[in-house]
Amino acid sequence: MKEIATILGVPVNPYTMDEAVEKLTKDTLAKKINFVVTANAEIIMMAQQDADYKKLLLEKTDMILPDGAGTVWAGNYLGYTIPERVAGYDLYLRLLEEASKKEIPVFFFGGKPGIAEEAAAEGKRRWPGLKVAGCRNGYFSAEEEPAIIEEINRSGAAMLFAALGAPKQEKWLCKYSDLLKPCLRMGIGGSFDVLAGKVQRAPKWMQDAKLEWFYRLVKQPSRFGRMLALPKFVMAVRKEKK
Ligand code: UDP
Repeated sequence: MKEIATILGVPVNPYTMDEAVEKLTKDTLAKKINFVVTANAEIIMMAQQDADYKKLLLEKTDMILPDGAGTVWAGNYLGYTIPERVAGYDLYLRLLEEASKKEIPVFFFGGKPGIAEEAAAEGKRRWPGLKVAGCRNGYFSAEEEPAIIEEINRSGAAMLFAALGAPKQEKWLCKYSDLLKPCLRMGIGGSFDVLAGKVQRAPKWMQDAKLEWFYRLVKQPSRFGRMLALPKFVMAVRKEKK
């Protein structure tokens, strides 16, 4: 058992991508529940401002993975061993691939109207065996929530990907955790937008150079405010070490 890294009070499991994919697929086939979060610096900083979110991450999740160069740096800087980054989007694609091989039905929940369907169509194009149990956009009122849960459960999905953005997706999955039937529940932010081709990810060389944040900033300058979480995160981690 590898030591869990505690970064600013958030417990991060130091799994590699392969280990996470293997465990989550195996657990899903064995009907074991996993509530998964891929925690980047922004999520860890959100938890510093939002006590309920921090409590949720600490007490209600089953696996928090190190997303983003910042989280990997912080874990290693604080003396833990975090072998690699497990980005939410990459994990989502790997799980879709496994789901297609093992005939595990998946549900796509979130994004603007039509985007989950477009992402699902692209998923089926890449992995023709993919069983899409259902799709539902991420814009709804509180009154619609029981019907959404019913739709997800009736679909027979065993993996539920919720793309509502953090922390909304985690709070939603947690609120309804006892009612939801899919074993794997995971928040994936803007991943449907990427799979549907609406938003581009940084080229591989930029990801490897730990510059994905810079690419996102140039492509979506409106994210500037959100991205100030990064330098704040670095400062907070340095302070924690002292
Ligand atoms: N979204 C949603 N419902 C909402 C708010 C947001 O479905 O009430 C979707 C939005 O359409 C987008 C995603 O959630 O697809 C959030 O994307 P963002 O890039 O902010 O997430 P990140 O990947 O940075 O966590």
